[in-house]
Amino acid sequence: MDNCIFCKIAAGGIPSNTVYEDEIFRVILDIAPANPGHCLILPKMHAADIFELDEALVGKAAVLAKKIASAVKKAVKADGINIIQNNGAAAGQSVSHYHVHVVPRFNGDRVQLNTEGKALSDEEFAKIKEAIIAEL
Ligand code: 5GP
Ligand code: ZN
Repeated sequence: MDNCIFCKIAAGGIPSNTVYEDEIFRVILDIAPANPGHCLILPKMHAADIFELDEALVGKAAVLAKKIASAVKKAVKADGINIIQNNGAAAGQSVSHYHVHVVPRFNGDRVQLNTEGKALSDEEFAKIKEAIIAEL
């Protein structure tokens, strides 16, 4: 993808703070971290989002996320870690190249990632449950 910034970064064409690289992935420091140590896992092959990414790579990204999360947690002495992966603008995705956020969290850091849950009726739960099951 010629116009994809993460393709260029993943390929090494644009410098980045790389903390890990193998044949499939590059892991970089986010340029605007939620907290110091915030990493992004980028597949070197372009896929806009999880729906375009090969299933085997989704699995490999998850395994790598655990490895990076463990290293980040120790490196910055984090109290917790968020692993986040946004798909689509409605979900907060701003760069259309699949990436996994590994975000170190500290007690009381006031980083806002969670919103309050919605209240659904029993009927609404039943309806949405059946709709999802029908798509699996
Ligand atoms: P999204 O909102 O798409 O899930 O996350 C995109 C992330 O990429 C943001 O956290 C943003 O700070 C980061 N980002 C955007 N452009 C660059 C860049 O050129 N270099 C790095 N290292 N991070 C970037
Ligand atoms: Zn790309």
